[in-house]
Amino acid sequence: MNKTININMNKCDGDGGCLNYCPNQVFELRKITANEYDSLKFLGKFKTMIKGRVKSFAVNSENCVECGLCIQQCHERAIQFV
Ligand code: SF4
Repeated sequence: MNKTININMNKCDGDGGCLNYCPNQVFELRKITANEYDSLKFLGKFKTMIKGRVKSFAVNSENCVECGLCIQQCHERAIQFV
């Protein structure tokens, strides 16, 4: 993989769609830490209050084949290649 997967924590609502669509088990859900929460912008904190602290992380990004399915399915537009 040449590109890096970036998940915008201010946008991710942790619904896990990327886990379901990714054919290569790149993503994992976990609760964000206190420091990660502190680093969110106002709207990210507000969304976290509503949706909870679970968010998606690309823990196995080396498995990515750049198919783009995760980007297409994310209703929050939280995933990008950079
Ligand atoms: S681009 Fe494809 S392989 Fe890569 S993380 Fe997204 S769904 Fe998985």
